[in-house]
Amino acid sequence: MANVSRLDTLLNALQKFYGALPAPPRDPFTLFVWEVLSVHSTPRKRDAALVALKRIRALTPDAMWRAAQAKLEASVALAGPYTEQRLRALRTGVDLFRRSPELPALIKGPLPAARRALKPFPQLGDAGAHRMLLFAADHPILPVDARVNRVGLRLGYGERKTARTVQTGLARELPPAVDAFRRAFQYLSHHGAATCTESDPHCHICPLVSECPEGKKRTGGRPGD
Ligand code: SF4
Repeated sequence: MANVSRLDTLLNALQKFYGALPAPPRDPFTLFVWEVLSVHSTPRKRDAALVALKRIRALTPDAMWRAAQAKLEASVALAGPYTEQRLRALRTGVDLFRRSPELPALIKGPLPAARRALKPFPQLGDAGAHRMLLFAADHPILPVDARVNRVGLRLGYGERKTARTVQTGLARELPPAVDAFRRAFQYLSHHGAATCTESDPHCHICPLVSECPEGKKRTGGRPGD
């Protein structure tokens, strides 16, 4: 029987607790748009904006380039504030995708070149670039955003408060398979948003409390308190 890591056990518990979760888009351009819409937004508003962009058929670099400005603006505004900044980031991204039609293939290739190709993209940052490599380019890399970092640290992964040590600690317990990395990111990040929140984690309802050093501290070691 295959060895089951501690992380596997934790992820199984989260999967049972939350059920199926929606995954980020797999198409590189749509995922870039998703990233731009996600900043300072909520999943509901971001998805509404993405659906509106799909409805006006603006989800390819060329189509967004040609889209009527007013329609584009109205769709992007559904994500919440910062419409101007989002439109600017989208224009830059459209430009980069149109100038490099080989980009989707490039990011699926060797990692150093893939990382270099993503560097010029506005609003991606480390976690966004890693999400792109994982979801749109099939690289087994764990994106560590603020939520994954927080949950990882509370569960005892990583020694210092840097994304790199948490990433190493978590990735060490994952099989080298893209699907395993995708599942880990989705459930840890969702858990950080829904239950293991920054200022007030809901340890008393958390399915991981019996395995969590921070949760035990906060509940006095009594799961369910
Ligand atoms: S027990 Fe508390 S600190 Fe630990 S993962 Fe759950 S919510 Fe976060």
